[in-house]
Amino acid sequence: MPLRQTLAREIRVSGIALHAGAAVTMTLAPAPAGSGVVFRRSDLNIDIPARYDMVSETRLGTVIAKDGATIKVVEHLMAAVAGAGLDDLLVTLDGPEPPILDGDALSYLVLIEQAGLKALGAPRQAIRVLKTVSVEQNGASASLSPAQTSEYDFEIDFPTPAIGRQTLSFTLTPESFRAQIAPARTFGFLAELEGLHKMNLAKGASLENTLAIGEEGVVNRERLRFSDEFVRHKILDAIGDMALAGAPLLARFRGVKSGHGLNNALLRALFSDPKSYEKVMLP
Ligand SMILES: [Zn+2]
Repeated sequence: MPLRQTLAREIRVSGIALHAGAAVTMTLAPAPAGSGVVFRRSDLNIDIPARYDMVSETRLGTVIAKDGATIKVVEHLMAAVAGAGLDDLLVTLDGPEPPILDGDALSYLVLIEQAGLKALGAPRQAIRVLKTVSVEQNGASASLSPAQTSEYDFEIDFPTPAIGRQTLSFTLTPESFRAQIAPARTFGFLAELEGLHKMNLAKGASLENTLAIGEEGVVNRERLRFSDEFVRHKILDAIGDMALAGAPLLARFRGVKSGHGLNNALLRALFSDPKSYEKVMLP
């Protein structure tokens, strides 16, 4: 029977916050069995559990909030946590977001690998989806259906030829996540950047951490890491958002043009009906 896992030791990293644009230091530390993933704002002395019901906002990233404190853009770190198979973790931040690093999940995964994993003395639980749950809005949709493993199926269709229509099916394991999904970087449109800056968003965005799409296509010098890097990043986001279920999901996620808002609505729909899921020990 697999055991719950935490980090073997603490590890620290500093970098730029994507939206705030300020430097932030993040510490990933071991946590006791059953605590789950908890974000701590050390500057405000407030702990926020990484759970779907703590999500307060979903525009340009998933935001969790408690007692007036918020932490933005948790999804890339949560994807790395889920991909690595971490169950219990304390994430301490001295600012409002994890550092964005390369805009992918691999940057976080490398840190987790440097710290190493440690088995805890408690069995690993999962959430098995028992019947299909789906949500949709404005031509976008997201659903969870029964499956033996964690599967992701995503379709995007952007009018810009730099992205276009991309589809991918993916089965989540630590190895497949590291090779196929973790390196996929976040992306954004140059035409929207000025408006975002006026709203105090994306102030830390740069070609170091974001694939920028202009009128002529991708402007970054570094080549795409995959020809379909965009849909891979959407799966990365979905894995991070689904990690807010609080345990590995035995389900097939299917997203069509889905984003953080719909992903969160999907988890809320799942947990609103006790007949749609059960907690199981992983075999
Ligand atoms: Zn993302």
